[in-house]
Amino acid sequence: MTKTLHHYVNGRRVSPKGGRFGDVFNPATGEVSAKVPLASATEVGEAVAAAKAAFPGWAKVTPMQRARVMFRFKALIEANMDKLAELVTAEHGKVLSDAKGSVQRGLEVVEFACGIPQLLKGDFTENVGTNVDSWSVRQPLGVVAGITPFNFPAMVPMWMFPLAIACGNTFVLKPSERDPSTPLFLAELLREAGAPEGVLNVVNGDKEAVDAILDHPDVMAVSFVGSTPIAEYIYARGNANGKRVQALGGAKNHMVVMPDADLQQATDALMGAGYGSAGERCMAISVAVAVGSIGDKLIDSLAPRVRAIKVGPGTDPEAEMGPLVTKAHLDKVRGYVDLGVEEGAKLCVDGRGLKLQGYENGFFLGGCLFDQVTPEMRIYKEEIFGPVLSVVRAPDFDTAVKLVNEHEYGNGAAIFTRDGDAAREFASNIKIGMVGINVPIPVPVAYHSFGGWKRSLFGDQHMHGPEGVRFYTKLKTITSRWPTGIRAGAEYVMPTMR
Ligand code: NAD
Repeated sequence: MTKTLHHYVNGRRVSPKGGRFGDVFNPATGEVSAKVPLASATEVGEAVAAAKAAFPGWAKVTPMQRARVMFRFKALIEANMDKLAELVTAEHGKVLSDAKGSVQRGLEVVEFACGIPQLLKGDFTENVGTNVDSWSVRQPLGVVAGITPFNFPAMVPMWMFPLAIACGNTFVLKPSERDPSTPLFLAELLREAGAPEGVLNVVNGDKEAVDAILDHPDVMAVSFVGSTPIAEYIYARGNANGKRVQALGGAKNHMVVMPDADLQQATDALMGAGYGSAGERCMAISVAVAVGSIGDKLIDSLAPRVRAIKVGPGTDPEAEMGPLVTKAHLDKVRGYVDLGVEEGAKLCVDGRGLKLQGYENGFFLGGCLFDQVTPEMRIYKEEIFGPVLSVVRAPDFDTAVKLVNEHEYGNGAAIFTRDGDAAREFASNIKIGMVGINVPIPVPVAYHSFGGWKRSLFGDQHMHGPEGVRFYTKLKTITSRWPTGIRAGAEYVMPTMR
């Protein structure tokens, strides 16, 4: 029998009150593995109310005690690493080793949040005026919400809630309805770690739940990660309702391969960054810009490797690439491959015919490689989010940089070269939020911050790291004097410090 999932509110599993459900699939077999409840505005309201009730108490807990909860949470994640990775693979499809890596990257944000006493230390100035002191503190916002995408069901929620909660906020998470079991389990682990009831709540759902969050007057801030059209919508509606919003969107990450690059290193990098997680990463490389004479060599080096990718269910330890997340997404990605052919790009490796014995109904697509892709083509302009790498030829470095800078997305970009001047100029002038030099997926570590430019991020604070602390707190500056002696009387001029 297909299991029915729940919400997690006020420290308890909450059964859905009837209403609507969505299907959660095992992408390797194509079978429905669970029904996920799609919350109504009323159910979202109950989660927000639980978080609101928990906020005053949690905000008063000392930063050191909040850090201790994070330390215990970290230990529980480590103890449950295999189970978490299995849950990710079961509903997302990515291979287990990759799933484990993604949980690890989320765990690192928890480790960063363990340092919250230090991170929340304010500034103090003695004697800003005679016998007048001034200090600044960062205080939590209240109830904050996170809305997350399917491709990282552990990591992206953990970019958000550990830091928000360590700062003293309470949290309502609306994870992707495609793979909700991992975030539900994380909420139980945080509770086991000692977070009081109501501090982290998980409501499953779709647009209806998201809109209820965006319109709820008690939600102070919203963190979003997902596709660009939805990010833009979240930013506009959340802002119109007076909320602080950071909304991270889609991507089309370029890797510029200079003629002097080490061909083997560049090929290895493109294989991992283009096809790892079946291309369903916001930091995946989907465009290789081959500069000058390296183009033909790069294609010759890539094509046999793409043909040889071991595709299989995520649980197969031999598999390098799993299935796509749903049939609908598989059809969309396959449609882009059809489109690329129609647009005149050269399909060097065609993964559309892939069949896996025993997994005929799984959402598998073999690796695809296009050459001679041009900037006018839709397969160049749009995010495909699948195992499809496009190679664009550029005559020189300046043309390559112009391509990257003119693309509407600005999440990540990399350059592969042995020329320090080119690398330095690239890092300095590229209009991109996260840049790699001989590093194909330059995802910032937890104590730096993650975020793109242009239409890859709406809002101005990146996620986790120092920017995360700023996003989840508001600044207050206190100026204090303890006068003694005779009263000076009222002063009607603008106060200046003497
Ligand atoms: P998505 O935008 O479809 O969904 C993201 C979230 O928004 C989900 O929780 C979903 O339920 C909700 N949602 C979907 N449609 C909505 C609507 N009409 N109104 C309100 N809410 C809605 O994204 P996805 O398919 O789950 O994830 C893949 C996308 O996420 C890709 O575009 C990828 O680049 C992006 N992504 C970006 C980053 C980043 O850091 N920039 C990281 C991971 C994924």
